[in-house]
Amino acid sequence: MAAQILDGKAIAAEIHEDLKREAAALREAGVTPHLSVVLVGDDPASHTYVGSKVRTAARLGIDSRDYVLPATTSESDLKQLIRDLSADPAVNGILIQSPLPPGLNYRAVVDCVDPAKDVDGLHYYSIGALVAGQATLPPCTPAGIMELLRRAGVDPRGKEAVVVGRSDLVGKPVSMLLLHRHATVTICHSRTVDLPAVCRRAEILVAAVGRPRMLTADYIREGAVVIDVGINRVDGKLVGDVDYAPAAEKASCITPVPGGVGPMTIAMLMRNTLTAACTQAGLPQP
Ligand code: NDP
Repeated sequence: MAAQILDGKAIAAEIHEDLKREAAALREAGVTPHLSVVLVGDDPASHTYVGSKVRTAARLGIDSRDYVLPATTSESDLKQLIRDLSADPAVNGILIQSPLPPGLNYRAVVDCVDPAKDVDGLHYYSIGALVAGQATLPPCTPAGIMELLRRAGVDPRGKEAVVVGRSDLVGKPVSMLLLHRHATVTICHSRTVDLPAVCRRAEILVAAVGRPRMLTADYIREGAVVIDVGINRVDGKLVGDVDYAPAAEKASCITPVPGGVGPMTIAMLMRNTLTAACTQAGLPQP
């Protein structure tokens, strides 16, 4: 049986409509939601992502400003910019596009963001809140995955979830969010023994590895919900970490690449920006 396609692009478009209304309501209440995006260096993929974030913000009625800095920027200058943005009452959200060029310590820079403006959810404070089940600004890709599952009617409660990848950006936080929704979670990584066998246990399988088409049909349990986070460029085309066509033969639901998790990530960034704007203005959450 062919899998249901979890169309992140269409779901993100629905969320955008809600966010547009929320941004308009905020403006009527006298608050102009604002996102500042900081990009250092000339990584082409990062420039594409930042462009897409800024354009989406504009479409939704969220003001944004991108700070594009040369790769030669010193860490102390970058930290000062982040501190200035953190102190600026007109700025509700701050995003530092990763990766930073070599020589700049991403962790040290992110920790200069005011946690109330940490719309990427990656400050140590935000990570702690997430682990405690108290995140108000959850990291965007994991939050997008949970929203995709929710809208597809997939309840993680009691299910076997396997997450391949243990990065701070995706693997660990999505594992926490699944745990909070009462899944039984296994986190896999490069030292996991017999990865296909572990993955075949999964009723919900999240692939966040960064290796093109690594998870073949052999990794997929019949009827599994498969979430492919991977974005890999192969021969000029974007492909995921899952070998899509054969996996779709076994899965009950699957995300495509592109058009699955990616658009949800941006939608969650916008949602976090509005959440931060409400909190900072002392208004109830939309
Ligand atoms: P990282 O490189 O930080 O982490 C990759 C993880 O995969 C690591 O934990 C690593 O294990 C594990 N891994 C690598 N090789 C293997 C293997 N052979 N077997 C098992 N595990 C393995 O990547 P990210 O988490 O940042 O990103 C993962 C993918 O998701 C990338 O393709 C990235 O581009 C994409 N991405 C997509 C987003 C979106 O919006 N759709 C957003 C963010 C990322 P170990 O820890 O042992 O090294």
